[in-house]
Amino acid sequence: MTDKPRALIVGGSLAGLFTANLLGRAGWDVEVFERSPHDLDSRGGGIVLQPEVVEVFRRMGIDVGAMTLGVASRYRTVFGPDGSIQSKQLAPQVQTSWSLLYSTLRKGFGDARYHQGMTLAGLDQDRDAETVTARFADGSSRTADLLVGADGGNSAVRALLWPDARPRYAGYVAWRGLVAENEMPPVSREMLHGDFGFANNKGSHILGYLVPGAHNDMRVGHRLYNWVWYRVADEALLAEILVDRNGRPRVSAIPEGMLADRWRAHLDTEADQLLPPPFGEIVRATRQPFIQTIRDLAVDQMVSGRAVILGDAAAIPRPHTAASSSKAAANALSLADALASTSDIDVALARWQPAQVALGKALLRQGMQTGDHLLFGRRPLLEVG
Ligand SMILES: Cc1cc2nc3c(=O)[nH]c(=O)nc-3n(C[C@H](O)[C@H](O)[C@H](O)COP(=O)(O)OP(=O)(O)OC[C@H]3O[C@@H](n4cnc5c(N)ncnc54)[C@H](O)[C@@H]3O)c2cc1C
Repeated sequence: MTDKPRALIVGGSLAGLFTANLLGRAGWDVEVFERSPHDLDSRGGGIVLQPEVVEVFRRMGIDVGAMTLGVASRYRTVFGPDGSIQSKQLAPQVQTSWSLLYSTLRKGFGDARYHQGMTLAGLDQDRDAETVTARFADGSSRTADLLVGADGGNSAVRALLWPDARPRYAGYVAWRGLVAENEMPPVSREMLHGDFGFANNKGSHILGYLVPGAHNDMRVGHRLYNWVWYRVADEALLAEILVDRNGRPRVSAIPEGMLADRWRAHLDTEADQLLPPPFGEIVRATRQPFIQTIRDLAVDQMVSGRAVILGDAAAIPRPHTAASSSKAAANALSLADALASTSDIDVALARWQPAQVALGKALLRQGMQTGDHLLFGRRPLLEVG
């Protein structure tokens, strides 16, 4: 037994690992419980590198100056449907990859207290003892001072504590794909390589940029071109798409390699009709496209007794904000700061919650305004007061 405060973290993806690394370094006894029995595989692709993520790495003692965290892009180029360039502006930024963040955070936390194949099934709170107990599907349980639900958009912790708080479909999906930079078709290579490209059409918005390649390889010639194509899809079409190649319905995403074959032809036809040649060609050159549903969520509460939720479990900003990972990092940084500010955990959680709820709602609003404008042509409503 140790007299350190103890935290159980449910979900071992980015939000869970940001929190685990920060609390572990702040003197907490931390265990992570991840449903997947394997290391998590790449969730696909590119992530715009934001300062909050760099700050977590810095606090983990990683020499961020010496580490190459991503691939730089130079210009932001907007193409018209015919391939003409509508605008081109110098706007340097760095894109990293989900797997680079995940592998760095996993290494930082180590394996000993990261438990795979552990699915949370229930939780109980003892208000007198000021403890929380997590019950797992294998029949085991753990008790601690704090439980952090970092279990994503379909969070079990959220469903147990706030069953009415559920994500809502935004009316469009993100088709996605990765192409080796050396396999980019000539017109795509010439027009898109090295920059952040965009193209809009009716009910269609595509963007793309280079990201690190396999095993976080950032050498020229070994990187990947990552594209994300937002397309309006009604609920009936969505239900069809979300049945994977084995006939199994999925909740909100279909990973690489699991999309049913018919959607390949569907994408090629739509690319012909809607995309300028550089993007149309890159979509056609993609071997294993995949898909993610765009959903809206921002909860009113993130704390219930000694259980909290953060990351996508608490708020899912639309990807146009480029903020999902940085919001998860911000939630974790401020939780660690609040817990370091007092030895009273309840006071710390009460201090932590309001700004994090507000952050989730602000990002949700920003993402909805941007996405609804791009995909449905809706003008953002001006807020008064
Ligand atoms: C399919 C997909 C693709 C994405 N691609 C990108 C991208 O390319 N770029 C980008 O910026 N962002 C992307 N995101 C979003 C980004 O990964 C998240 O916003 C960010 O990582 C924070 O997520 P999270 O850790 O809160 O949740 P998640 O990454 O969803 O992780 C939740 C974790 O909890 C585990 N879990 C769920 N239920 C239980 C349970 N009952 N018990 C134990 N463990 C459980 C899951 O297995 C999972 O590992 C993607 C998200 C998904 C789901």
